[in-house]
Amino acid sequence: MQKDRFKFRCICCADCCSDKKTIVNVTYLDILRITKGLNLSFNEILEILGFYIYEKNVSNDFFKKMVIPPIITEKGNAFVGLLKKSTGACIYLDEEKKCKIYNLRPMFCRTFPFIFKLLNLRSSNSKISIQMFYTTKAKEYCKGISVDAPYISTKKWIKIGKKVLKELQDNNKFLEIWNTNVKKDRVKATAKKFIKTILKFDRKLKNVI
Ligand code: SF4
Ligand code: SF4
Repeated sequence: MQKDRFKFRCICCADCCSDKKTIVNVTYLDILRITKGLNLSFNEILEILGFYIYEKNVSNDFFKKMVIPPIITEKGNAFVGLLKKSTGACIYLDEEKKCKIYNLRPMFCRTFPFIFKLLNLRSSNSKISIQMFYTTKAKEYCKGISVDAPYISTKKWIKIGKKVLKELQDNNKFLEIWNTNVKKDRVKATAKKFIKTILKFDRKLKNVI
């Protein structure tokens, strides 16, 4: 049971959308939502995504502990995220600091400045116990969590958190299958093949928009 209380009121400064050092991670379901919502062609999907190479060598166990692990590509391990402009801002941030795909924005954009952690998972959904925190980045620069901000409804956010963690579990299973298939030479580790594999999951889309 979450006991801490959290303050937050977004002041729409867009600092979280312009941070050069932050990758706007996307799950495969985020990619499907954006693809469907914007009616993107195959080539257009490739144009909105960045494959950010992760240089460090990591163990399988470390992979599993990451919120969203990297995928294996022909150029090395890479995090999949929305492409960034030369300024470091997300490609979907417009001149007026507004998100051009607000209703389709990735899950991590929806949950910022919070992050959720699974504490206990029993057989039924009602028994899932989770805890929320401010993200490290939020503590670094989000002015929306200042002392002047009002307390948020923890109950409401925990509900969102449950949905997010479920989506992350699905995503990480998908990434694990991808990485295993690459290691076993069952699939060519290119960005194009990765997108094609995701599009096969299109039938699930009715549940995610
Ligand atoms: S940094 Fe914080 S206050 Fe600024 S847009 Fe992002 S969530 Fe809102
Ligand atoms: S998708 Fe929208 S909310 Fe998310 S980082 Fe880009 S501009 Fe910001």
